Amino acid sequence: MLKIENLSASYQTIDGPVHVVKHLNFDIRDNEIFGIAGESGCGKTTLLRVLYDIIQYPLSIDEGRVVLSGVKKGVPYELTTGEIRKAWWNNISYVPQAAQSVLNPIMRLKDQFLDSIPKQDRGDESKEQTLDRVRSYLKELGLSPDVLNAYPFQLSGGMRQRAIIALATFMSPGLILADEPTTALDVVVQRGILMMLTRLQKQYKNTLVIVSHDMGVHYQICDRVGIMYSGSLVELGPTADLFREPLHPYSRMLIGALPVVGDKSAKEGIPGRPPSLKDPPPGCRFAPRCPRASERCRREVPEFRQVRPGRFAACHLLEEEAQSHA
Ligand code: SF4
Repeated sequence: MLKIENLSASYQTIDGPVHVVKHLNFDIRDNEIFGIAGESGCGKTTLLRVLYDIIQYPLSIDEGRVVLSGVKKGVPYELTTGEIRKAWWNNISYVPQAAQSVLNPIMRLKDQFLDSIPKQDRGDESKEQTLDRVRSYLKELGLSPDVLNAYPFQLSGGMRQRAIIALATFMSPGLILADEPTTALDVVVQRGILMMLTRLQKQYKNTLVIVSHDMGVHYQICDRVGIMYSGSLVELGPTADLFREPLHPYSRMLIGALPVVGDKSAKEGIPGRPPSLKDPPPGCRFAPRCPRASERCRREVPEFRQVRPGRFAACHLLEEEAQSHA
């Protein structure tokens, strides 16, 4: 479905390039919910923008590419970075972090739906016929078709987010990218949004990529999770395995800091802060915060590689452990 091949991207600043995504290599599979986790500022949102082909100054790709492939209505397609935008809405869609910012505040939702549906997809349909299809789809999602007559500011945050998800999924794209889809919503609304996304994914068998700093979101709905730190993936694997036995020290600390029902022990956060992407430390970027860092860690960048079937991580310690067991 989506191949990320040796992908690096940076922002141009007056002080020179800031490398925000470094040498990413991984696949996202058909019909899975894939989570991208990590603290704020680790490059999650930039990665999602690159996957969606929103590459505009000051963001640029330094090397590598993204390949989107699949079959739609019996027709196979394969698009790479620079071409993926041709497939927006139809094959790939995006639910951005601030729903309000993508909706035009002075347009009723029905006009925003009509604008998002390519002419060739509407064929000879009149506007009213297209809107009838939209109304049926909204009902299917449990939303009142009345929202079509509303301006975005007339809707609550949760309703706006549902409307954006409906807009992004109306054309049945094979891949949906959602950036922090539950941020700034209360817990009940968050749950409703997650249920809506998972129900849609199961029903239409598409692929959903969710970016969230909230590990609870990944635990609840993702099949696999990739954990990012300072622009790189440090661990990737099936959610159940990763939460049961995180391999990378950063993943262990992230998961160890999560509250557990019935556990009253004090939880410790991760000491320190992620490094500046402008001036990252040499070697493993997690070394300044890692309780197990060695001299080698401060010198050499660990390779992101398969350490167990289906499980990938970038840590010298795991490599050394594997060698000692060999
Ligand atoms: Fe810690 Fe070293 Fe592994 Fe980095 S490579 S996570 S510093 S043990």
